[in-house]
Amino acid sequence: MVIGACDRQGHQRKCGMLNAEYRPGRLFEHSAIQYRARSILIGMPSPIGHALGGIAAGWAIAPVKNARNAVLLAGAGAAADLDLLVGTHRGPTHSLGAAVLMLVAVTLMTRNVRWGSAAAAAWASHVALDWLGTDTTPPIGEMALWPATRAYYESSLHLFPAISRRYWLADFWMFNLRAVVVELAILGPIVWAVVAWRRKV
Ligand SMILES: [Zn+2]
Repeated sequence: MVIGACDRQGHQRKCGMLNAEYRPGRLFEHSAIQYRARSILIGMPSPIGHALGGIAAGWAIAPVKNARNAVLLAGAGAAADLDLLVGTHRGPTHSLGAAVLMLVAVTLMTRNVRWGSAAAAAWASHVALDWLGTDTTPPIGEMALWPATRAYYESSLHLFPAISRRYWLADFWMFNLRAVVVELAILGPIVWAVVAWRRKV
């Protein structure tokens, strides 16, 4: 069953079509199965971008600054995408409500509100980066304000390009390399500045 066709203006957001698949004047028709495969396999910032975001957001707050805790903050920054494993991507895990739950849980576990705040900031960075990303999967955006509302939000800035998980396509590596370079160019200097500023306390 053909459910849609993509034109030049909208082809990536509507179909998840890569540039290599686009031909001027070509309408890209797709079946429901193709559409679902394309939708599932295209995401927002990569785990590298989210790891850097977690460090940038949580480092200054964390009471102890060392390599181990940088790894923990990186993990907290990327962990929201584990919802991919249960097929509910960008739902309640991608919300400020989840960041508050993180604050409470980590504060109770460590009995230290600074650890809770650092973990919550790292988690919230994921929500912010995905909001600034380029989603191609309907519903577009993320449930950023859950539990207040289950509406999906995405910025119109599209600062971070989409990441393709369609490894069988010829331009998979170049497509993702470009996206990761953009993430490193934006987030790398921020991480460097925050870590240099708060090296010890
Ligand atoms: Zn995400």
